[in-house]
Amino acid sequence: MITIADKKDCCGCGACMNICPKGSIAMQPDHEGFLYPRVDESTCIGCGLCEKVCPVLHVKKDEPMQQAAYIVQIKDETVRRESTAGGAFTAIAEHVLRQGGVVYGVAYDSEFHVGHTSAETAGELFRFRNSKYVQSDTKNTFREAEAHLKAGRMVCYSGTPCQIEGLRQYLRKDYENLITVDVVCHAVPSPLIWEKYLEMQRERLGDGFTNVLFRDKHYGYKYSTMTIKGQDGKNVYNYGIDTDPMLRAFFSDICDRPSCYECAFKKRYRVCDFTIWDCYSVGNFDKKLDDDKGTTRVLIHSEKGRDLFEQIKPQLRYTEVTPDQLTAGVREMFHSVSGNEKREQFFRDANSKSGEALFGQYFPETMKVRLERTVRIVCYKTGIYSAAKRVFKAITGR
Ligand SMILES: Cc1cc2nc3c(=O)[nH]c(=O)nc-3n(C[C@H](O)[C@H](O)[C@H](O)COP(=O)(O)OP(=O)(O)OC[C@H]3O[C@@H](n4cnc5c(N)ncnc54)[C@H](O)[C@@H]3O)c2cc1C
Ligand code: SF4
Ligand code: SF4
Ligand code: SF4
Repeated sequence: MITIADKKDCCGCGACMNICPKGSIAMQPDHEGFLYPRVDESTCIGCGLCEKVCPVLHVKKDEPMQQAAYIVQIKDETVRRESTAGGAFTAIAEHVLRQGGVVYGVAYDSEFHVGHTSAETAGELFRFRNSKYVQSDTKNTFREAEAHLKAGRMVCYSGTPCQIEGLRQYLRKDYENLITVDVVCHAVPSPLIWEKYLEMQRERLGDGFTNVLFRDKHYGYKYSTMTIKGQDGKNVYNYGIDTDPMLRAFFSDICDRPSCYECAFKKRYRVCDFTIWDCYSVGNFDKKLDDDKGTTRVLIHSEKGRDLFEQIKPQLRYTEVTPDQLTAGVREMFHSVSGNEKREQFFRDANSKSGEALFGQYFPETMKVRLERTVRIVCYKTGIYSAAKRVFKAITGR
């Protein structure tokens, strides 16, 4: 029976809950808002399956395998605009749908809770586009995906590396009709902090949001913004990493899941077919693609993935590079986030303060913040943003 002695040893993938033959495991939030398995011992039969499928107990080794590497932009510019980076995920997902398959990804429900769900048509894929920097609840999607696989349908399942290792452990066998896609994963913030953020924004902006985009390309790809859309679909809020409190919380690592501070899944060789992530330095790979509208790095780990990529090439602009070039210096692929000394207090305050008070205390909009925002926007509008960023990095090392 699964027991969690140290919270760092559970990534919250839900494989144990999905596998339990007696339905004895429920995923319950702790005081930080992260889900952990809770076992009803009165119904548990001690079969041990939950331990067998736990990806943290059985981490796959980082063993070299043949890989292929590309930088990619989907040719459909509407899709690329809606995507976090170059829209590679949608190109893969559309291919699976064309084969009569089903696609799993991360979307909001009507209350903006973040969770895994399925799409059966290309028209539904927009819900998965744009990264949500909050831990997603996988619910019973491992079981659902398995049922489709057993029925012979093609399945594409996307998520964080720990979720994909959890799914593969849960399935316990290889399926030719399964395509898995993971992201290079910085870390995942708490759903409780996300609730606090939404509460604050609803108080400020009123109810009735129709979408929230963590990585909108309002100014451009390299200075993306948190954007909130109102009832008429128009933007009611646009602030970047310098100002928006949720993005600042994400990048300060104050509210990540404990397992993310010692992540067991940061590695180059993975159990998935595709690993996708951002490519800001696109100009270093191919100057022709450097248009500040978004580019995805795609690392392919399997023969199945290479075959699929050959078939979607007509939908893409792409440049092949070596896997060593693509992964060189990608910190988030190999190293866990380092932690934040205010984390414990931040969560204590999150449990007692309103969203406005919490974010106002930890991420206030000071004069310095306003100045940085103005400088960034001016640099963007005058077309010197990338050059200014390089100079800033050279001076400060940040
Ligand atoms: C939590 C998180 C952290 C990330 N950290 C980094 C990073 O440090 N460095 C980097 O270069 N890239 C990171 N990425 C990846 C990056 O944001 C883009 O997802 C990637 O570049 C693919 O872009 P795209 O345009 O091809 O896909 P998009 O069309 O934007 O597709 C987004 C994909 O991400 C999935 N997804 C969205 N939200 C979540 C979530 N909460 N949990 C699991 N899966 C989700 C969707 O299902 C879909 O498959 C991260 C993504 C997430 C979700
Ligand atoms: S040991 Fe078996 S029955 Fe008990 S919680 Fe784990 S999977 Fe369920
Ligand atoms: S890592 Fe996944 S399988 Fe392991 S205990 Fe946590 S939720 Fe269960
Ligand atoms: S950092 Fe590691 S543990 Fe945290 S969500 Fe990403 S893959 Fe999972």
